[in-house]
Amino acid sequence: AIPLVVAINTSLAARNGMLIRDRIAMEDARNLDSIIFDKTGTLTEGEHGVVGMETVEGVDEDEALALAAAVESDSEHMIARAIREAAEERAVDVPDAEDFEAMKGRGVRAFVDGDEVYVGGPNLLNHLDSKVPSTLQSFAKEAGENAQTVVYLVRGAARSEASERASGDEGPASRKGELVAAFAMADVIREASYAVVDALHELDIEVAMLTGDSEDVANAVADELGIDTVFAEVLPEDKDVKVQELQDQGKLVGMVGDGVNDAPALTRADVGIAIGSGTDVAVQSADVILVQNNPMDVVRLVKLSKASYRKMQ
Ligand code: ADP
Ligand code: MG
Repeated sequence: AIPLVVAINTSLAARNGMLIRDRIAMEDARNLDSIIFDKTGTLTEGEHGVVGMETVEGVDEDEALALAAAVESDSEHMIARAIREAAEERAVDVPDAEDFEAMKGRGVRAFVDGDEVYVGGPNLLNHLDSKVPSTLQSFAKEAGENAQTVVYLVRGAARSEASERASGDEGPASRKGELVAAFAMADVIREASYAVVDALHELDIEVAMLTGDSEDVANAVADELGIDTVFAEVLPEDKDVKVQELQDQGKLVGMVGDGVNDAPALTRADVGIAIGSGTDVAVQSADVILVQNNPMDVVRLVKLSKASYRKMQ
């Protein structure tokens, strides 16, 4: 009887836009204790238009935006697109950049006129041991509390000792790690997320959120939605560690995500759920794929699992 029931619920699932890659996970879904959601693009829209910026004294806004757009010119990230669009809208002159490096979960780095320049979030600042100057702190705080992602422009040292020497002692080296601007990106909580969190609580499932974004943003979103557990400023390589942390508490853990960065966490989870326009890597790491980009399907999945496997007992 078991294969028949599984077949029925697999096709039922498919009709509901759920592709089941692992049937055991489908059966486990009814017993989940915790579900962890990726924040950006899953619980939030992930729109990321630039809605505000602030520079330190002596740095022109257009100049900072142009420099940020130059560094972001090679990146596919939503944040990069938003910064390039903002630069276009303001018709600033974007300088050439070279030697791009994507720093996963942190930001990007490139060289502009021989200067190392970075754009990125809190994980980048930790990495560079760079601090938000006091003049930008209230801007960043306020943006964060409005669930806006903030990224920073950091002008680093010169590329090599030779160019450092060439430009004199007061040259680029003295600008090492200078954080000169902050950009706030719009993001809004998805309407469906409220109902998802409530419905999961009704099913006695703990709701957690995992993000590489700042504590401020994460807490703002979590407070608004009534999320129980928050993991913020998490590097991509550490996302699965957070899944493990909950599993070590004896919990059966589901993970919902869409990005390449989420793949190890999806693999680690007892039920890995790729959602919507998930990247190929996410899809290949997941047990269940939710075809429509609707987080409410996570609730439907749990309910379908409960309904299907109850019949078998
Ligand atoms: P999430 O963990 O929310 O899915 P990512 O892992 O893609 O997001 O990025 C985490 C954080 O890394 C972002 O919130 C941002 O601070 C920083 N970041 C990543 N890529 C970029 C980029 N191209 N430009 C600036 N910041 C970036
Ligand atoms: Mg993501």
